[in-house]
Amino acid sequence: MSAEFVEEMREKLMDERADLMLKLHRDATRFKTECATGSGDSVDLASDESAFKKMEAANRLDAQRLTAVENALKRISENRYGICLKCGKKIPESRLRAMPSAVLCIDCKTRDERRHF
Ligand SMILES: [Zn+2]
Repeated sequence: MSAEFVEEMREKLMDERADLMLKLHRDATRFKTECATGSGDSVDLASDESAFKKMEAANRLDAQRLTAVENALKRISENRYGICLKCGKKIPESRLRAMPSAVLCIDCKTRDERRHF
């Protein structure tokens, strides 16, 4: 794994991290604003609740992606980027290019996913 490649991935990860943080912050702000403006006497609590749940689910996904991105950045700082977290094999550059936050090789990832079903 060349230093140039790792640096390229680091930049992608930093961009992604900034995007996700902005998005999470924006969603939180928007929800607060919606709550504040929807405080008339015809407040539909049920729809407020489902909107909140929907936002919460989307946020959880973004938060998970943010964690993955931060893990990958940590791997870079430890000089272990591109090494599978489980089996220690090299993750192909093509996989990292498609998904810079990948910390598992395809074999381990597939095994990991199968376990959840
Ligand atoms: Zn592996």
